Amino acid sequence: MLARHGVRVHTPHSRLFTTTTRRSADFTHAVIGGGAVGLAIARRLQQVDGAQVVLIEKHGMVGSETSSRNSEVIHAGIYYGHDTLKTKLCIEGKQMMYELCEKYRIPHMNCGKWVVAQTEEQLAALQGVHDFAKSIDVPIRFISKDEAQSREPEVRAEAGALESPSTGIVDSHSYMQFLQGDFEEAGGITALGSPVSMIRSPSKSQPDWRIWTAPPGSTSPVPESPSPQSPGPNASHDDNDTFITAETLINSAGLYACGINNMILPPDRHRTPFYAKGTYYSYSKSHPKPSTLIYPAPIPGHGGLGTHLTLDMGGRVRFGPDVEWIESPVDLAPNANSERFRAALEDIKSYLPGLDVDSVALDYCGIRPKLGKSGAQNTGKGDFIDFYIKKEEGVQGFVNLLGIESPGLTSSLAIAEHVYALLYK
Ligand SMILES: Cc1cc2nc3c(=O)[nH]c(=O)nc-3n(C[C@H](O)[C@H](O)[C@H](O)COP(=O)(O)OP(=O)(O)OC[C@H]3O[C@@H](n4cnc5c(N)ncnc54)[C@H](O)[C@@H]3O)c2cc1C
Repeated sequence: MLARHGVRVHTPHSRLFTTTTRRSADFTHAVIGGGAVGLAIARRLQQVDGAQVVLIEKHGMVGSETSSRNSEVIHAGIYYGHDTLKTKLCIEGKQMMYELCEKYRIPHMNCGKWVVAQTEEQLAALQGVHDFAKSIDVPIRFISKDEAQSREPEVRAEAGALESPSTGIVDSHSYMQFLQGDFEEAGGITALGSPVSMIRSPSKSQPDWRIWTAPPGSTSPVPESPSPQSPGPNASHDDNDTFITAETLINSAGLYACGINNMILPPDRHRTPFYAKGTYYSYSKSHPKPSTLIYPAPIPGHGGLGTHLTLDMGGRVRFGPDVEWIESPVDLAPNANSERFRAALEDIKSYLPGLDVDSVALDYCGIRPKLGKSGAQNTGKGDFIDFYIKKEEGVQGFVNLLGIESPGLTSSLAIAEHVYALLYK
């Protein structure tokens, strides 16, 4: 819960504001959204001399939306094409993530990944991934049939297999716990249970951002829906809401970031969110169990990277996520639709024929925050949408992050550095 110009100040880590720099606002920066990306940004900005950052999160804990509903893969950066933020920030973020995890003993593993092809057409897709990775100096290599057979005898790769040795996995919860701890230790404030309900941008009479939050669990305005893409007639605050002021505002609200964008920018700059749900499946048998991640060849235009096999830090195998376009950002219940389940099993069996289908069960879902019905891979055919990270023009001190889908977890530390550069360089 967050309150300055209301009554309450009740944060897990609050302190009096007696800095030497004279400023009119309560905070130098307000970051909306305590997922992996918002946490990384808040931590980075708190490191600036004289900064006083508040991280505003509507739930009672950080990282409880998309950042804890993903594959936890440290991606190599081999799918997103030349001159894109996704490629740049994924490659930089991967390096930073490995270094940070190493330094602070955050559980992670550089287990590598194989992308496997069963047909000549799929092999051509692998060739494209290979050539792109080579062109940007990301380690990649084809492995021979003999090597594939001897290293992972249970994996089927009829037409070929591509190995990405710099891919890995991370315990995303430990990672976010570290980011929150480091941020707060540096003096940052995490305001939990604080759904942002209204925002007023700086004006001549009021030079700072004013950010209202509703009481915890409140269903009022925008982000809680029913239509998070537009503020609607309820975009106001009531007497129970309280506000703080900040010099700059960072929108890192994940699935609700378009709603925050639409609260601030004029109608011609409003954005419509798209949601691509991905369902995961657990596997209760101890074999087959490859020692590396296994991905099918990417399918052009597909919203995800195919129903792949990942491992978690506990050594458990899981499969997923598939792609299902949905209307609501709260539609998180695993879908028991047998057609979808059958399709996933077919996909998995294509590269893992020894799969015991009776040991596969519905697990959890995550929702990709998309800006259109775009593909996960950049095929150069115009069906790819990059991360949107901009210091917006015409509004003072506003950094806007939209469409932070995969590889957002991998990129989070580099995104934080990028946001810092937008504000300070
Ligand atoms: C199925 C799936 C698989 C993925 N796999 C990978 C992977 O293997 N590797 C990888 O690198 N990336 C992966 N990603 C992408 C990655 O999970 C996301 O890019 C990343 O977690 C985004 O983090 P975030 O902080 O931007 O968003 P979120 O984690 O969604 O955080 C946003 C936060 O904002 C808060 N919020 C929203 N509205 C308000 C408001 N009004 N007031 C206050 N708080 C608000 C929310 O409660 C939430 O905590 C995957 C994503 C999905 C869906």
